[in-house]
Amino acid sequence: MTEETIFSKIIRKEIPANIVYQDELVTAFRDISPQANTHILIIPNKLIPTVNDVTEQDEMSLGRLFTVAAKLAKQEGIAEEGYRLIVNCNKHGGQEVFHLHMHLVGGEPLGKMLTK
Ligand code: 5GP
Repeated sequence: MTEETIFSKIIRKEIPANIVYQDELVTAFRDISPQANTHILIIPNKLIPTVNDVTEQDEMSLGRLFTVAAKLAKQEGIAEEGYRLIVNCNKHGGQEVFHLHMHLVGGEPLGKMLTK
């Protein structure tokens, strides 16, 4: 069974979050525990627990994650210097919230891609 997470409540505005973008397919809001000067989560409105659960039906909303990431990066003024988009999956990926999400992080140099 697919269980809702706190992110579904954020999408429905049942709990507070700093939402920076929302449309019929995706929602973007600032991470509660930012790991960089800019740290925004962009998520499909439909609950997809992990990348392992993605189907062809999700291609529209998952594509939208990228167009919204590009739009928000410009809006945040970090597009030219650059940023990182991260999608964690399951235990080895370090996923904590099981509602697929893209992290948009930047606003400062981010260093090497992986630390273990
Ligand atoms: P993951 O490790 O699953 O890829 O990332 C989950 C992210 O969600 C973490 O960066 C964490 O800080 C963020 N997060 C968890 N709960 C909340 C919340 O209630 N509100 C917001 N804005 N971010 C959250």
